[in-house]
Amino acid sequence: MIYVDDIYEAFKRYYYSEVFPIPDRPDVFHVTELCDCPLKTYLIRKHLLPISLDKMVILCLGRAVHEVIEKYLPIREVGFEVEGKTTLNGRFTVIGRADILTDYAVYDIKTVNKIPDKPFEHHEMQVTLYTRIFDKQQAHIIYIAKDKGKIAIFRANTDEKYVREAERNAEILYDALTSNTPPKPVRSWRCNYCENQLYCWG
Ligand code: SF4
Repeated sequence: MIYVDDIYEAFKRYYYSEVFPIPDRPDVFHVTELCDCPLKTYLIRKHLLPISLDKMVILCLGRAVHEVIEKYLPIREVGFEVEGKTTLNGRFTVIGRADILTDYAVYDIKTVNKIPDKPFEHHEMQVTLYTRIFDKQQAHIIYIAKDKGKIAIFRANTDEKYVREAERNAEILYDALTSNTPPKPVRSWRCNYCENQLYCWG
């Protein structure tokens, strides 16, 4: 007999092995961790903010979109799901996985509820770090909307300010993780999607 809990468990295992394996060193970060609120990243690292199973399922389904592109994109002279790393501030390792790499650009695939008018800043920050990791001149974000199945591709701004912000976040997170002291919350519209919202906003 297979129960609903077994299916959730399968998604959970997939999530932590394929979608978001948590690094076990305080000086190693995923690109996405540095592009989020440091407090949220800290709580996830310390297992104090367990992601809901429902959200885990949604994130795993987003992964399925990547597999469609990887297997069936009619352009094959590109790299898919390429992993790389770089160093920030001379002491932090940042790991990134590019969805698609061409000779001169990196493409990141995002499943969203609705196509935005312009790229989200935290997505631009992510792809900026990818350009540094993979030494590419351009970054593009492919938005795929879940509501109507629409697709749009934006060229991202890869300003150096995003690298500076990632460096600051790496310092904040390293200090927090090694001293077991939660960093300050960074409140934004993204709190609406955070499991810690009630705690941070009272
Ligand atoms: S609710 Fe907002 S400020 Fe609090 S941890 Fe989540 S993202 Fe950070």
